[in-house]
Amino acid sequence: MIIPLRAPIQPAPAAEAALAAVRLEVLLAALHDAAEYRRDRAWGYCLYCACERHGLCPDHARDYDTADDYDDLAETLTRHPACGLGWPAGGAR
Ligand SMILES: [Zn+2]
Repeated sequence: MIIPLRAPIQPAPAAEAALAAVRLEVLLAALHDAAEYRRDRAWGYCLYCACERHGLCPDHARDYDTADDYDDLAETLTRHPACGLGWPAGGAR
């Protein structure tokens, strides 16, 4: 018995948009979590921080910069016309 092959089922455009919205929500939540993690990590004052004139060693200062980069990316994603999903500014939460 030969079973005919079928073309893969394609989601309807509305379902595809809903799936994209869920994926974007997950991505924004991940970026939010990553930024929080970096800011929490930056609070981990170390011996090198104690020796720095401004109170943060380069490694911990870089954590703040990276957190800001994550926030910038999330903001860009929420405003990008290709997304068009109407996410509120400031993240998915
Ligand atoms: Zn440090």
